[in-house]
Amino acid sequence: MIHINISKLRNIPGAHLDVDLHCQPQCSQYGYNDLRFAEDLSFQGQIENCGNGTYQINGAYQGRLILTCSRCAQEFSLPVDGTLRRTYVAQQGKPFPENMEETEEEETIDFSGNDIDLTQEILTEIYLSLPMQPLCRPDCRGLCPVCGQDLNNGSCACIGEQIDPRWQKLKDFVESKKGV
Ligand SMILES: [Zn+2]
Ligand SMILES: [Zn+2]
Repeated sequence: MIHINISKLRNIPGAHLDVDLHCQPQCSQYGYNDLRFAEDLSFQGQIENCGNGTYQINGAYQGRLILTCSRCAQEFSLPVDGTLRRTYVAQQGKPFPENMEETEEEETIDFSGNDIDLTQEILTEIYLSLPMQPLCRPDCRGLCPVCGQDLNNGSCACIGEQIDPRWQKLKDFVESKKGV
């Protein structure tokens, strides 16, 4: 879990803390059974006590996912990173301090106790940023539809036999000229 213990900030409005966190997240615990990390997910940033039980977190995350290429079915790793800005509200606190206004892009998240768990928010950001059809490389040649060979490792024998029907007439013509 990427989580922050706020006990040092709890009763000091205006106080802030730098955080540098790493972990191998238990993705299935957060509802993302498909996400697999090749290495630790990390988060660096700052948390600030904004008063009235409100804590603002600002920072950036980095990680490396293992994905399966949608063309050749090989696994590959994809670096993922982004920024995260969230406002957490202690459940017993008032929803907003007077000097803060809710904006549309800034949602608030309730928490209880001394721990703020950022994992859910980071995993959601990563999940939403994933390509619909991941590719191991932009020019991945995929698998041969006939024999299943990975064409990134070289052509197979089937290629020459798949001829566009529009070229068939030309092929027949050339062959007739050759006197076949
Ligand atoms: Zn591929
Ligand atoms: Zn083939």
